[in-house]
Amino acid sequence: MKRIGVLTSGGDSPGMNAAVRAVVRKAIYHNVEVYGVYGGYSGLMTGNIKKLELGSVGDIIHRGGTMLYSARSEEFKTKEGQQRGIEQLNKHGIEGLVVIGGDGSYRGAKALTEQGFPCVGVPGTIDNDIPGTEFTIGFDTALNTVIDAIDKIRDTATSHERTFVIEVMGRDAGDIALWAGLAGGAETILIPEENYDMNQIAERLKKGHERGKKHSIIIVAEGVCSGVEFGKQLKEMTNFDTRVSVLGHMQRGGSPTAADRVLASRLGARAVELLIEGKGGRAVGIERNELVDYDIIQALSMPHKVDLGMYQLSKELSI
Ligand code: ADP
Repeated sequence: MKRIGVLTSGGDSPGMNAAVRAVVRKAIYHNVEVYGVYGGYSGLMTGNIKKLELGSVGDIIHRGGTMLYSARSEEFKTKEGQQRGIEQLNKHGIEGLVVIGGDGSYRGAKALTEQGFPCVGVPGTIDNDIPGTEFTIGFDTALNTVIDAIDKIRDTATSHERTFVIEVMGRDAGDIALWAGLAGGAETILIPEENYDMNQIAERLKKGHERGKKHSIIIVAEGVCSGVEFGKQLKEMTNFDTRVSVLGHMQRGGSPTAADRVLASRLGARAVELLIEGKGGRAVGIERNELVDYDIIQALSMPHKVDLGMYQLSKELSI
């Protein structure tokens, strides 16, 4: 393989830039040329493709977002759209493509591979919901952003003796809520993978209050329900001064943590190695701190599992 492409797609995440840098530098190290596809699959179809040099990815390892921009494209879900993409890749002499993104982006990479164009998927999303890897690029940074917010909210919650409901991202996965809740010492964590009982939650809060607890923090994953609705219901049931904070898109930004930069560097470089070895149609990941790769089609069909042992621990530590 003499020339590869790289694109970022779907929701952005901190560390995508570090992954792009790793792809570019690793490829050039092996005398492989790299072309950046700007604007995800949209840019692929329209041929928004430019050659990247060593210097093109200088000074980006610490930046959030993605220098290649990202986009969502309905047209690319069609065979015609995918063919348009492949035509552009062929036109530029590109022989393999690294796709950095979430599960939707993986489906696009899978579709291209099925049509004979080798792609390797790199898991870039804050949600940590990609099968075939224990961690996705951006999760650790988002987690730290959420913990920073929880710590600040805790200060004001204590001063005013309030109950705070904090809604966090994660789509259908509870990882951000669970990890941030455990690290932030939340009283209650609601994740989509587990049912909850509103009466039990209200009772626990009341008992804590009777014991002299000055505040309560409840983390609600966006995949469970709206934090605003939950807060309303909780206030009606407990009569406590209850406030809601929806953290929103701030969770997707910011300078990537060291852990995310290292993960992005390792996964990005591994993706290039696979293409050089002639192995398309793979998805790279990390398990027990070892790099792994799976058939991208198989990876997509594996279930994503939240750590329920950790969920139980969070309950035991917040009595
Ligand atoms: P993420 O990659 O963060 O999960 P999306 O789900 O929005 O984000 O997917 C990003 C893009 O990937 C979509 O806009 C679309 O262009 C492409 N994509 C998603 N699903 C498919 C599919 N089944 N076939 C081909 N392309 C897809």
